[in-house]
Amino acid sequence: MQLEHLGGGVHLVTGTNVNWALVTEGDAVTVVDAGYPNDGRALLESLAAIGRRPGDVQAVVLTHAHLDHLGGIPALLREHRVPVLTGEAEVAHAHRERLEQISPAQMLRQCGQWRGLVWTMQTVRAVLPHASMSVPEATSAANGVPLDLPGALTPLATPGHTTGHTVYYMASAGIVFSGDALVTAHPLLPGPPRPQLLPRVFNENEAEMRRSLSVLGELEADILVPGHGPVERRALAEIVADVGLQ
Ligand SMILES: [Zn+2]
Repeated sequence: MQLEHLGGGVHLVTGTNVNWALVTEGDAVTVVDAGYPNDGRALLESLAAIGRRPGDVQAVVLTHAHLDHLGGIPALLREHRVPVLTGEAEVAHAHRERLEQISPAQMLRQCGQWRGLVWTMQTVRAVLPHASMSVPEATSAANGVPLDLPGALTPLATPGHTTGHTVYYMASAGIVFSGDALVTAHPLLPGPPRPQLLPRVFNENEAEMRRSLSVLGELEADILVPGHGPVERRALAEIVADVGLQ
């Protein structure tokens, strides 16, 4: 677990190949995503590392209901019951009324190259024992309405990676928590970190995902906090224009 203070009480935490964020206001915390199931302990440790306890968490906001983003939620809820919010169209996914996730067979097909083999081994180990995990507690956050939580994050529907994928915009700090709508690195992506889409195998609807980029490009923001990879400090309009050319 690695922790980086981005300023303004916002902390980026990197777990097993995935990020979550802690947004603080005084003692109170909003948790943005929650890592893999085996990141549950690291999630609690990250709260302790910034001097907060599970009881300080006001809510978890979830960008989408893939196992690598919701996995730490049960460990947190065992310590302290808090609301779990996600996009209106993502709630059914979090409840596992439907599943939009890479299958074990698709995962194994990534083994053709060395970086795919390493990622597959790590991911199978991290995911398989928890394949049936869901978040029945998840409820919907209204699109475009700032949440009454630390950071006053605004949920914005950005479908494509999953049907109900939602980014969270923190207007006061110019930060976009982009989840997997836009990432900067992933073990399956070649080359140095840069804003880019995840490989096609992860995305429910890539054409829709590209259309959703315009939502990010219109935001007054200059800090991109992705679900995977390092922070990118640049105007979102510029980042989105670059990704559109790829
Ligand atoms: Zn992810």
